Amino acid sequence: MKHKVGLLILIIIFSFFNSLAQDENAELLRGFHSISSHEILDFAKELSSEKYKGRLSGSPEYLQAAEWCVSKFEEWGVQPANNGSYFQYFPNEYSNVFSEGSVTYSPETGQEISLNFPEDYYPGSNSASGSVSGNLVYVGHGITAPELGYDDYKNVDVEGKIVLMESGIPYSKNDTTLSKWTPYAYHRYKFRNAVKHGAAGLLYIGKIANPNTVNLDGFVYAHISEEIADRIFADAGKDYKTVRKELSEQKIPSFEFTENQTATITAETLYFPNARSCNVVGLIEGSDPEFKNEVVIVGGHLDGQGYLGEIFPGALDNASGVSDILGAAKAFATSEIKPKRSILFILLGGEECGLYGSKFYTENPLFPTDKTVMMINLDMVGNGTGFFVSNGKSYPELFQHFESANNNYLHREMAASEQRKNYGRPRSDASLFENAGIPTFSLWTRNSVHPVYYHDPRDTPEVLTPEIMEDAAKLLYLGILGVANDEGLN
Ligand SMILES: [Zn+2]
Repeated sequence: MKHKVGLLILIIIFSFFNSLAQDENAELLRGFHSISSHEILDFAKELSSEKYKGRLSGSPEYLQAAEWCVSKFEEWGVQPANNGSYFQYFPNEYSNVFSEGSVTYSPETGQEISLNFPEDYYPGSNSASGSVSGNLVYVGHGITAPELGYDDYKNVDVEGKIVLMESGIPYSKNDTTLSKWTPYAYHRYKFRNAVKHGAAGLLYIGKIANPNTVNLDGFVYAHISEEIADRIFADAGKDYKTVRKELSEQKIPSFEFTENQTATITAETLYFPNARSCNVVGLIEGSDPEFKNEVVIVGGHLDGQGYLGEIFPGALDNASGVSDILGAAKAFATSEIKPKRSILFILLGGEECGLYGSKFYTENPLFPTDKTVMMINLDMVGNGTGFFVSNGKSYPELFQHFESANNNYLHREMAASEQRKNYGRPRSDASLFENAGIPTFSLWTRNSVHPVYYHDPRDTPEVLTPEIMEDAAKLLYLGILGVANDEGLN
């Protein structure tokens, strides 16, 4: 008899926990299935819409986009993470570009040519306002590095002239010697160096729409396509490809173009040196009294390239990543499933200006770094059919949660890589979190379905693949939950 009662009690206890587990699983699936591609695409359309004007960090339109994200957090019950505030502010100078301006070029012989926007050129995001004309001088990477025995300016006189310059540094291999070149890798260094040598203006080769520069008094610049550079070189009897090859061999192929080759650059801008921008920070507090002091961070940059004669909507880069994060945040906030560890959602500002938001966060973290279990950064997660997780292989105990989420529920092609030491200048928000000692993953979509219009006015919601965005949000939801509940992590 005694035995029978004991057995009965055991059965009751078992079925109680069993039904609890079933409820929990049902709730997990409810949260999972609440994530919808339609809704996530709508987030991306909202963030890419004209009213936010390309989300230039520091601009009023960026701050409005940040406020819209906060309104969503509030609606769903994601809590403010910064002492009662959803914002984490930091200084962020920027320039307002009012029009595409103009670039004209006079060849050795024949008519002056007006370059076409946006095919041939982009205006400079931080150009001074005004107009400059002058002769042309090629200055390679525009670097003066006496300690490395390297000077792109050593054989040329650029005083009062317009320099043609390349981005990047003489080394392209990711090896240890690269770190010596890091200080010279920044656009803003190159611009200052050009001004120091007396240049009046700049034609930067390669159409990079990037506010990652500096506004210098009276220094007017624009970006030109490689095809236009080709043409200007040919007019001087030079082959652009040959010159590029010499540059890569550190032969300093700088030269002055012919006397009759001139250009005029015009820009209409206004500089705001004292502006500020922000990260948006939202929190799902952990449910476990001990573990809630530890955090899992999910982040992605909210800012874009802004307006450069046309709006650069930044749909893939990075309205997509932010929308995926919002999709996951909503699922967490509206579900009964409560993670043991806390989850911090951070929508970063100033990425395009030079990783300002991630720099500010890692210098002013809301949770101690040693209590930060991991960070996953989303940048351009919305065009393709598969996933790539960089650094995944370096942290197998964290990565397994994402892998099993994918294997059990999503069935996407998912590859991962080992962490590689980055010797050049940090190029992504992820690298700053990594440098702060936080295990960090970068998530991308691969096997793109649509053309990738990187930093291009055609980066609109039409190039997004909503199905993979839904799965990215689901991957975050399940993967993060797995990490947040894993008591075995050290
Ligand atoms: Zn990006």
